[in-house]
Amino acid sequence: MADQIYWNPVLETLPREKIRKLQLKKFRKIFEWTYERSKFHRKIYDEAGIKPADIRSFEDIRRIPTVEKSMMRDIQRKDPFPYGDALCVPLEEVAVFRQTSGTTGQPVYQPDTWQDWEWWAECWSYILWAQGYRPKDRVFIPFGYNIFVAFWAGHYAAEKIGCEVIPGGVLDTKARILKIQELQATAMMGTPTYILGMAETAQMKLEIDPSELTIEKITCAGECGASIPSTKRRLEKAWGAKVYDHAGATEIGAWSFECQDQPGGLHVNDALFLVEIADLETGEIIEEPGRRGKMIITALDRQAQPCIRFDSKDVIEWSADPCSCGRTSRLIKGGVVGRADDITKVKGVLLAPSAIEEVVRGVDGLGDEYEVIVDRVGHKDRIKLRVEVLPEAQDQCQLVESELADQLRLKTNLRYDIEICGCETLPRYEVKAKRFKDLRKKSEEG
Ligand SMILES: [Zn+2]
Repeated sequence: MADQIYWNPVLETLPREKIRKLQLKKFRKIFEWTYERSKFHRKIYDEAGIKPADIRSFEDIRRIPTVEKSMMRDIQRKDPFPYGDALCVPLEEVAVFRQTSGTTGQPVYQPDTWQDWEWWAECWSYILWAQGYRPKDRVFIPFGYNIFVAFWAGHYAAEKIGCEVIPGGVLDTKARILKIQELQATAMMGTPTYILGMAETAQMKLEIDPSELTIEKITCAGECGASIPSTKRRLEKAWGAKVYDHAGATEIGAWSFECQDQPGGLHVNDALFLVEIADLETGEIIEEPGRRGKMIITALDRQAQPCIRFDSKDVIEWSADPCSCGRTSRLIKGGVVGRADDITKVKGVLLAPSAIEEVVRGVDGLGDEYEVIVDRVGHKDRIKLRVEVLPEAQDQCQLVESELADQLRLKTNLRYDIEICGCETLPRYEVKAKRFKDLRKKSEEG
């Protein structure tokens, strides 16, 4: 099996029309399951006048109302406690509790049955296999095992496919690096922010060059970084390893992955998820490549608290080209480029924070960290960008700054107030970074 290219050779190479047939069949099944068991969902669908028997085509699916995170928040902490009436199984069948990280408000609780939990591990097995994880790998998980789902499922999937797994739980960053060195781990997973931070700690605090360690591949998740070309380059150079992106979410599941061919985007796991892209303003479903919209997603097999036409607010677009790896699933070009809430108009120009990251990490002489603060002075928007210049480039500060300003103007069409900060003065993050601050929103909210 180890020399097999695909985790599931049948589903991953299924012709498109067969995948679509399968998706429709599975959608109808999960919709009926949910309609019959979840009062929360049934109320929404009854109000829209949609019954399970009405769903015969993808056009019918598009008429089904979407569900948003805020709606899930409203039903929680009610009966059956603490999940509320979207729960589709008896409480005693719930095997695992997780919750969202709450970066955009009150966390959402997520119950999973044992079958759901096995499904999580199966979804992640596609990801890891596509990224070259095999039974001979020794996988280090530098992750504080906690209430968030994050790399829990990655851990179990690595075990499932036969790797040897090292849980790097409560160790601090230095201890984790030393453990990787001691045990000659070959793979690991983390947020791009943390993996870059680990490399910095190895160099600055332990005088270890991480590219000399035995790590060959790194799976990144939780942030867009590994799909941003300049961030990926920095990660790969620092660790001397291949770096792959994955996007998933607690309330959805592990829906996408970059494969070993690194096609500049993410495969959707089409056999297990239905991804639709909706125009940000009109809500119209976008089929053609090259047009950005927000993701509406359905987990086709998740049962305890189903995810049906969930408005994820992740901004994505279809790629025009198939992937050279032979998988027939559709590709998301450039990965998730941001959240619909974060893509904002500054000085009348649409700005995605990931575009700033692409520029900053592409300039030699700059450190990995940066901070963006947008505010309003009088009636004018102002963008402040704070960056760190590396010790070896200190005598070329002006050169670095003007290169940065030029690239920013070129790639984002905007001017910035650039502030050069001392080394290691900007905040460091353990999990997900908060580098983009829009102070205008606060003043509007009062
Ligand atoms: Zn591929």
